[in-house]
Parts: sequence; C-alpha cells; structure tokens
Amino acid sequence: MKVKYNNCGNNTFHDEIVNHVLEIKARIYAVKNIPAKICDRCEAKFFSPETYDAVYKMNYNPKSPNKKIEAELLEFS
Ligand SMILES: [Zn+2]
Repeated sequence: MKVKYNNCGNNTFHDEIVNHVLEIKARIYAVKNIPAKICDRCEAKFFSPETYDAVYKMNYNPKSPNKKIEAELLEFS
C-alpha cells in the first residue's frame, strides 16, 4: 500500500494490527484488530482506503458489538 499523505515526510512503513477508537454521535467505539501501516519514524497510523471505509461504515451503521467493555474517559483540560 502506498501512503500519500504522511506529515513527517518519511516513506517507510511496517504492518501492524492496531486498535482504533472512534466517536460518532457521542458514542464511542473501540475497534480491535485492524490491519494498518505504521510510519517507521513517527508511528502515525494509516489505513488502506478499503479498511478505512470498513471501519467507518461499521460505525455509521453499527452492528451489534462483539463485546461491551468498560472504559475510563479522560478529558484533557
Ligand atoms: Zn511519520
């Protein structure tokens, strides 16, 4: 996968399975085990367009969760 927009200017990435947290309409979803490309320099996380669509579609039209988890919510202030 070629990554076009990498802020740090680095062009080498490695594959990693990551978790991602999204907030849609005041609901927070944690999505686990997503394949991603990670920037070798700054650790920025990129998804392929297909993966990105799948992740975000899942949240606009959430299927029943695989599991409910308890989480701590911290507000930066
Ligand atoms: Zn980077």
